[in-house]
Amino acid sequence: MPIYEFECEECGARFEELVGAADAAACTACGSERTRRLYSEVSPPSRQPRGAKVRADESRRGEREAARQERITESRKRRAAGEKP
Ligand SMILES: [Zn+2]
Repeated sequence: MPIYEFECEECGARFEELVGAADAAACTACGSERTRRLYSEVSPPSRQPRGAKVRADESRRGEREAARQERITESRKRRAAGEKP
């Protein structure tokens, strides 16, 4: 079983537990079950400056918009082709 890092939402304690994928772990500090699994244990916290992240988001949005436009164009083409006798 993999080791996951958890953070307690009650007291903020962080701890590691061996759990199955669907399991939660109770806080080792206060016993609360309001814990959430952290996914950042392997890679260090992002040191990317905020501006770079915003630019990356903008670029992804642009790609999605381009893909959407492409689908619209394709469906128009198909419709136009279908309307021909
Ligand atoms: Zn706790």
